[in-house]
Amino acid sequence: MVHQGIIDRAKKEGRKLLTEIEAKELLKQAGISVVDTKLAISKDEALSISQQFGFPVVLKIASSDVVHKSDAGGVKLGLRTARQVGKAYDDIVKAIEKKYPEAKIQGVSVQKMARPGVEVIIGMSKDAQFGPVLMFGLGGILVEILKDVSFRIVPLTKRDAGEMIREIKGYPILEGYRGQEPVDVANLEELILKVSNFVEQHPEVDELDLNPVFAYRDGAVAVDARVVLGEA
Ligand code: ADP
Ligand code: MG
Repeated sequence: MVHQGIIDRAKKEGRKLLTEIEAKELLKQAGISVVDTKLAISKDEALSISQQFGFPVVLKIASSDVVHKSDAGGVKLGLRTARQVGKAYDDIVKAIEKKYPEAKIQGVSVQKMARPGVEVIIGMSKDAQFGPVLMFGLGGILVEILKDVSFRIVPLTKRDAGEMIREIKGYPILEGYRGQEPVDVANLEELILKVSNFVEQHPEVDELDLNPVFAYRDGAVAVDARVVLGEA
């Protein structure tokens, strides 16, 4: 299976962290909606992929040694011209080489700039007692500062998925707050169930983060994904 190909290759190379591109590919194969993303190993390639996707695009560092890409200057959003793409490519590589001189750089990922939505996160970590546990919350500062998140043990039922979305304090934001458009909660429930299935089918995955997912009135898309493999 293609699935296993990505995981096997990482293991063979002694890597625990999949690149964002590998993580998105795996999740896409599991029916999880991710933003179109391709690896470029040169500036020219970054340009041609950008033209293929259509502007605006996003460029990010692709390295299995860099966990927090934007902290290190490894993410450039909203690039609208070939010039901006070229400059972003150079700036990203320079910033990473400076901050992480030891990092192995696979290239730069080029992706479509997703339209703005409500940022949510879906995560999985393993509890010593309960095994894999899914987490749901609103993205950005709401999660980082307020820790407004909910948890359920894998495998989740549809009812679990519905409850974990509705029990966060920020739920009114998803219903549409002060003129903001409401998001498609049924679609988020399905997404959470797909993640639960994915986790069940891949015991070798130790940690998973879709951070963020942009939720819309009609569907949702993950713009960043992180997968960490375990010892097994
Ligand atoms: P990090 O490794 O720092 O978490 P991300 O890939 O999450 O990097 O990018 C940082 C932020 O940039 C995201 O939280 C999101 O707000 C925005 N972003 C990332 N990718 C896209 C995209 N394809 N389209 C639109 N916004 C994006
Ligand atoms: Mg992220």
